[in-house]
Amino acid sequence: MTTRRPLVVANWKMNGLRASVAQLGTIIAGAGGLGSVELIVCPPATLIADFAAAARGSPLLIGGQDCHAEAAGAYTGDISAEMLRDAGASAVIVGHSERRRYHGETNAAVRAKAVAARRAGLLAIVCVGETRAERDAGQTRDILRAQLDGSLPQDGEGVVIAYEPVWAIGTGVTPTPQDVRDMHASIRTQLSSHLGGPGRDMRLLYGGSVKRGNARELLRQENVDGALVGGASLDPDEFLAIAGVYRDR
Ligand code: PEP
Repeated sequence: MTTRRPLVVANWKMNGLRASVAQLGTIIAGAGGLGSVELIVCPPATLIADFAAAARGSPLLIGGQDCHAEAAGAYTGDISAEMLRDAGASAVIVGHSERRRYHGETNAAVRAKAVAARRAGLLAIVCVGETRAERDAGQTRDILRAQLDGSLPQDGEGVVIAYEPVWAIGTGVTPTPQDVRDMHASIRTQLSSHLGGPGRDMRLLYGGSVKRGNARELLRQENVDGALVGGASLDPDEFLAIAGVYRDR
C-alpha cells in the first residue's frame, strides 16, 4: 500500500471567467472533507490571483498550466514560473500534450520548464503520454521512456508525473484499468532505476477522460497516486467525487 499522498489536479484549460470564482467556492467547501487528499486547481493564468486569494486559508492549492523557462525577459505573451508564484500559484503543469502538439514543445523544452518551476518553488506536474498512432505501432513504452528521460529534471525532486495517453484526453475513451496499472508499473520501474528513492516516492497521476463513473476503477490501482482531470473538473461536484475515491485509502 502506498504512502504517497494522493493528489488530484484540475486542468481547466482555456475555460473560465472571473465569475468562475463561485465554482471554486464549491471545491473549497468540499476540500476539507477529503482527508489527506491534496487538491490543486489550475485555471487560466488570468484567474490565478483571484483563485489564490479565494483559496487562502483552505487546503486547496492553485496552479498554472504552463510557464516559460526564463524568469523574465523579451518573451511576448509568455509567463514565467516566478510570475505564477507571485500570483499565488503553488504548482504548474508542464509538457501537456496540447502544449507539445500546438506549441511544438520538445522534451528538452519541457525539462527546462520543469527546472524553472522548481527554481520558483512550484511543484512541477510533468505530462507524458503516447499518441494513438504510437500505441498502435507498439511504441508506447519507448515513447514514454524517451519522454521521461528527456523531460524530467535530473534528480526528480519537487516533480509529479502525469501519464496521459493522448488518445484518451477529451475523447471519453480510456485505457482498461489493467492497462493503467501496467503503464504505471512500467513508469515506476523506470523512475526507480534512474532516480532510486526519489523515483519510488514520486507521485504518478493518471489523466485522460477521468469521470465520476470510471474514477474508482482507473484510479484505485497500484502506482496510481492521483489524477489530472480536464473536462470533468469544470463541474465542481464531479471533480470532488473523483477526488473522493481516495478519501478512505
Ligand atoms: C487533460 O487535459 O489533462 C485531461 C486529462 O483532459 P480530460 O480529462 O478532459 O480527458
